[in-house]
Amino acid sequence: AKGGGRGQYRFYSSDLEEGAKLRRLLEEDLRDALDRDELSMYYQPIVKSDTYNVAAFESLIRWEHPERGFVSPEEFIAVAEDLGIINQIGEWALRKACMQAVEWPVDLRVAINVSATQFVQDGFVDQVKSALQASKLKPERLELEITESVFIGDAAQTQKTFLELKELGVRLALDDFGTGYSSLSYLQHAPFDKIKIDQSFVRGATDPDNNNAAIMSAIVGLADALGMETVCEGVETKDELKLVTARGATHIQGYLFSRPIPHEEAIESLSKGDLK
Ligand code: C2E
Ligand code: CA
Ligand code: CA
Ligand code: CA
Repeated sequence: AKGGGRGQYRFYSSDLEEGAKLRRLLEEDLRDALDRDELSMYYQPIVKSDTYNVAAFESLIRWEHPERGFVSPEEFIAVAEDLGIINQIGEWALRKACMQAVEWPVDLRVAINVSATQFVQDGFVDQVKSALQASKLKPERLELEITESVFIGDAAQTQKTFLELKELGVRLALDDFGTGYSSLSYLQHAPFDKIKIDQSFVRGATDPDNNNAAIMSAIVGLADALGMETVCEGVETKDELKLVTARGATHIQGYLFSRPIPHEEAIESLSKGDLK
């Protein structure tokens, strides 16, 4: 697998084959993951930048494969979209997170990731309604995190969905801002309550040679002017915390405060007051 042209070719080709094989395995197993109870939700705190008190938990799905261990959601969510089962998995995640949020000893918000494919499907608003009804979660405690890719679809339909969700009293956050084909026109009409600044802007922001800190300030300024909150994602070090706080983000999330933790641990930390 090392050295000249032919060896290299073989290397890449078997690598590709391995990749395809792995993918087929994941596809087969993912179809059964729900029935086999292999999926769960983890929770990561989002803190206020002035007090470091927890304002919300973001729910992050986990798949523990019996042989492979944890499979990254980046990987299996994409597979679920291709297989056409994202709607099922997404609905399960939505319900699970709403049901678990009502068990918390404090009325914090729960921020739930919604895939664009799921968001633009007919019946998504009904899914949200039914999750709220089944769990009795107050709508204002539910925040849906969506990415710019929802704007690729039918604009009128997307706008209608936004308005119906706002009507329900649910909050909307624009996730991974600045990484896709960001367009300021998205912010013009969409009723977002929050913008999440992608962690790629935090990485390296403490290095004076790059523009990340300036971009962060600009996004925060824009969000402020539009009356939206801002979350800086992926804060890992005290230096990064200092920097993003100086740039004015209203909320912070990252390993510095906590990694995503299982539901029982989140409850325990809240009860013990470890998380305020
Ligand atoms: P995301 O929504 O942008 O979530 C943030 C990701 O960054 C999470 O990865 C989180 O664990 C990680 N993270 C948080 N703080 C830090 C930090 O300080 N440093 C670093 N390096 N990483 C940090 P995770 O849980 O692996 O999720 C990856 C992506 O998978 C998510 O990105 C989201 O796009 C997707 N995803 C996760 N759960 C769900 C879900 O329930 N539904 C849908 N549709 N997508 C989900
Ligand atoms: Ca998210
Ligand atoms: Ca994000
Ligand atoms: Ca992401």
